[in-house]
Amino acid sequence: MYAGIDLGGTNIACAIGDAEGHIVAERSVPTHSHEGPSAVLDRIARLIREMAPRVDAVGMGLPGRVDREAGISQFLPNMPTQWRDVPVSQILRAPLQAPVYLLNDARLATLGELTFGGREDWLRKFGTVVFFTLGTGVGGGIVVEGKLRLGPWGAAGEVGHQTIIPDGLLCGCGNRGCLETVASAPALSGEGVRLMRSGLAPQLHQLVEGEASRITPQQMSAAALAGDAAVMEAIERVAAYLGIAIANIVSLLHPELVVLGGGMAQMGEVLLQPVRQQVVRRVGMFPAHGVRIEQSALGDRAGVMGGLALAARSGQV
Ligand SMILES: [Zn+2]
Repeated sequence: MYAGIDLGGTNIACAIGDAEGHIVAERSVPTHSHEGPSAVLDRIARLIREMAPRVDAVGMGLPGRVDREAGISQFLPNMPTQWRDVPVSQILRAPLQAPVYLLNDARLATLGELTFGGREDWLRKFGTVVFFTLGTGVGGGIVVEGKLRLGPWGAAGEVGHQTIIPDGLLCGCGNRGCLETVASAPALSGEGVRLMRSGLAPQLHQLVEGEASRITPQQMSAAALAGDAAVMEAIERVAAYLGIAIANIVSLLHPELVVLGGGMAQMGEVLLQPVRQQVVRRVGMFPAHGVRIEQSALGDRAGVMGGLALAARSGQV
């Protein structure tokens, strides 16, 4: 039995399962990241122990940069104290009596999708895939000829931090105008709040009973389908930015498959269709119709399932 952990700024997700991806227990608890690394790691150890008396290994995703070999977190930009040089694997190993393998959370989700996403035949045949996680941030992973590309810092595949708007909004990474600033869930929901308060989104207003904090990308796609033209326009704008980012990667790598995961991907075809149109329009050097752009089969579970895969492979990706 293995444990897969997906550490996020808001929640810690944990799954206990085997090397084939059969999950026997699953749970999510609040991160309370303001309490600092040791309290959060203590919570993770207790969570795993409550769910399984014993695990053989743990695979864990962290939202930022990690030193995989040393088992140390290096820079988690959205966590208080940014977790610089925290020996995560060592701290967790003692209470769990098992090795703990680390990977960036989006790369871990990519590994989950590759291993358990039902695309094995497809991968064997082609093998170059780009994965986007669309949520509070925009992360990703790039698989070239069947192998996850990590690069010297383990940071290759940061598809959300390509510049889309010169001198655009400030991004968490320090750059301006990254894809993440215009195509994340908060970016889209923020526009939803503005439209609702401007009286331009009556359907959305009804769906969330006028409460701005309840606006999510999924609510916005429901409002758009129910007739809010301004909300549809906002979604199409986000899809256009996302399409430009994907078209850039398609021109560079020509992957056979692009997978969109994370909470925002659950908007489905309302988001996917305009993204596909944009990619075909923006890739001029060859016909891009053959590049499949699909929603993740694993949804929110891609991270923890990647954790199971990482644990089962003893940390090898
Ligand atoms: Zn950025």
